[in-house]
Amino acid sequence: MADTKYIFVTGGVVSSLGKGIIASSLGKLLQARGYRVTIQKFDPYINVDPGTLNPYEHGECYVTVDGHEADLDLGHYERFLNIQTTRANNITTGRIYQNVIEKERRGDYLGKTVQVIPHITDEIKRNVKSLGVKNKFDFVITEIGGTVGDIESTPFLEAVRQLRWELGRNCFCLHLTYVPYIAAAGEVKTKPTQHSVKELQSLGIQPDMLVLRTERKLNKEILDKVALFCNVEQGAVMQSVDVSTIYEVPLMMQKQGMDEVLLRKLNMPTEGEADLERWKAFLQKRKDAKKEVRIKLVGKYAELPDAYKSINEALSQAAIYNNRNLVLDVCHSEKITPENVAEILGDADGIVIAPGFGQRGIEGKFIALKYARENNLPTFGICLGMQCMVIEYARNVLGLADANSTEMDPKVTHNVIDLMEEQKHITNMGATMRLGAFDCTIKKGSLAFKAYGKAKVQERHRHRYEFNNKYKEMFEAAGMKCTGINPDSDLVEVVEVPTLRWYLGTQFHPEYNSTVVSPNPLFMSFMEAAAATREENI
Ligand code: GLN
Repeated sequence: MADTKYIFVTGGVVSSLGKGIIASSLGKLLQARGYRVTIQKFDPYINVDPGTLNPYEHGECYVTVDGHEADLDLGHYERFLNIQTTRANNITTGRIYQNVIEKERRGDYLGKTVQVIPHITDEIKRNVKSLGVKNKFDFVITEIGGTVGDIESTPFLEAVRQLRWELGRNCFCLHLTYVPYIAAAGEVKTKPTQHSVKELQSLGIQPDMLVLRTERKLNKEILDKVALFCNVEQGAVMQSVDVSTIYEVPLMMQKQGMDEVLLRKLNMPTEGEADLERWKAFLQKRKDAKKEVRIKLVGKYAELPDAYKSINEALSQAAIYNNRNLVLDVCHSEKITPENVAEILGDADGIVIAPGFGQRGIEGKFIALKYARENNLPTFGICLGMQCMVIEYARNVLGLADANSTEMDPKVTHNVIDLMEEQKHITNMGATMRLGAFDCTIKKGSLAFKAYGKAKVQERHRHRYEFNNKYKEMFEAAGMKCTGINPDSDLVEVVEVPTLRWYLGTQFHPEYNSTVVSPNPLFMSFMEAAAATREENI
């Protein structure tokens, strides 16, 4: 069996160029040639994981099946490659230092002075190579977060430099940069790219391939000029022009021969072509979907496009598979009042109530839910969204006017949502929620069962509070049914109101496992209902 190959993806000039999308696209092309591929991300910040970050910092917190709170790029990896990642796929500076300090405290370093080189870099290298053990993968792609030249990413780049030596021909470096267009001069400028590559070279890393992110198509002369100045082979400089969807990027890279160039440079066979039939079929469906479906997502991070990344993607995938063009409007929950709710949600074909933490914006979610329920609009509550469904139902249908979650009101009498027993003695905030995939048994005959088509499912969680089983009978008698239950803990994972068209909430996050070739069944079912509502609305 051939050795595992290691590909490093770095970025220069500015951040937010889409390294994650380029890494995922390269991964997709290799996977579509039949290779086993995984992708990991190093984040240079000191937090041990992004679980304690609010969405204003780095957008949504993604959750892996094994319960790791991860960077949202892992969501891209899973959606592109249809794989499951784990805690080994996302590592921060904080985690590297934590491991090294733990080893130091145990006495593992036998009296040595513990230093950035070699101890921190060794720990980084160990975390790269651990994904390649036992030849489980043909390719391990490692994305280095941040921008070349940042102080914080220097140890990671030093580790890459060392690995290049150790791995020899089994290593490949791809550098992503930005080529700006200067309107006043009417020209694109490659100088920032040249500087960024020089910076990388000064750290001892010579890129094998460059990807130039650009808003305007670059001609061959520009690409060749960059190749010449940056010591990169002609033909190994690709361009990534803005496209209408990130899912076009693998095809755009394939057209430029990205996978072929890489394989040739790694001395691997280059014949044949990546088989992207299903991928292309999805993109074709996207193009063909002309009819609209209007979804309103109600949450408190309306101004942040990355805060609900996985939900947006899951909705758009489901819309495309339902032959619909998704028109998604994120509504700020703090701005919804009983007076304006009809105006804000009036033209919606479906409503999603977002996950979240804390009191801010919560009343707007209740108002939106009451409106959706009374107007029989397809409604999907996710995590906090499901908890809000329960609270709104308790207040307005069960007549428990003060019902609430103890998260919002610790002294509430009717604690229909309550802190989970296992959470009561926890004081640390990091990685202490109920996290990762758990079994859920779906009741036959329910809407959820119809969507999944089976009784045993697994979905991912991230929460501390939970439906209070003391109220279960009361809810069921009043029409809100508990149709998904964890078989081990008896926790309620799904609620629904069967007398309504599509009114369902999940304690778990089904958006995390929705991928391009395998959309999540609940999102599919919700979208089908929303599309049907659209037809009636017209
Ligand atoms: N804040 C709620 C809880 O901790 C919901 C969390 C979420 O929406 N992810 O239970």
